[in-house]
Amino acid sequence: MSTLTTKDLLRSRRVAVDALCPTCNAHVETIFHTLVTCSYAESCWSEAIIHMLATGLYTFPQWLQSVFQQHDKTQATSISMICWMIWKHQNNLVWNQAGIKVKEVVRSSTPILNQWRNVQYKTFNHLMSFTTQGDGAERWHKPQINNIKINTDAAIFEESHRFSYAIVVRDHTGSLIEASSKCRDGRVNPYLAEAFGIKEALIWIISNEYKNVTVETDCLQLVQAIRNSLPSYSYVGQLIQDCRDMLASLISKNICFRFVKRSANRAAHHPGRYNCSLADRVWRMGDVHSEFYNVLLEDSS
Ligand SMILES: [Zn+2]
Repeated sequence: MSTLTTKDLLRSRRVAVDALCPTCNAHVETIFHTLVTCSYAESCWSEAIIHMLATGLYTFPQWLQSVFQQHDKTQATSISMICWMIWKHQNNLVWNQAGIKVKEVVRSSTPILNQWRNVQYKTFNHLMSFTTQGDGAERWHKPQINNIKINTDAAIFEESHRFSYAIVVRDHTGSLIEASSKCRDGRVNPYLAEAFGIKEALIWIISNEYKNVTVETDCLQLVQAIRNSLPSYSYVGQLIQDCRDMLASLISKNICFRFVKRSANRAAHHPGRYNCSLADRVWRMGDVHSEFYNVLLEDSS
């Protein structure tokens, strides 16, 4: 929502447009105005019998946060759809000189939401159809011939306020193709750090143009969040969405995404914890430290 191209955003990027809201022609068109304080938006919220407390709120993110605090998940999803319909109205008005009636905004938000849920459900089932097999493995297994496997893990260094995440890429013989770890400044929870690891694995697959890849993590919560189709507006939510988008773009590449027990993910445990310096590191077979080497050996025996 924060990336909607309202006129104030366009002007800040030096695109010449007039400043006023095309619906009411009375106020500067900002995201907050368009979706919350414009008389048109107010009519939509009143038509939907949703009481919006906008007093004391001046930005759209503040408003959205307050809305999500005041309503349950189902209501919050409906509110998101109405926001989307109001935005659609504004665009129709600008580009087609035809807006959408207030009643129509509210009436059509439910079927559109159902359609969207349907699509999400199908996508979800599609992802699930090739990802659930093998969930929960207790030990590491070599991938099939012509397949590779990426294990990912993260580590938090509380005292130095850093975290790291690692990926370990192996072929069907269990040989190391590449392991890498990245260390970042910041106090994050393990869940967020793990999400960085998954994203890193997907970036690796895309940039190295691999197909037939299994990605494994021992963070069940994250696997469930990525498979879940519901939008999430938190910072980690954005990372999860990035992962979903990347998985969707890899849909023809036969990418498996699995949860495994910690005992099956030991190799990825090592490079991450080994590196708490800020330098990013890459290891290949031949330059791994002995502890890590032993895990690789045990895994592939
Ligand atoms: Zn307006």
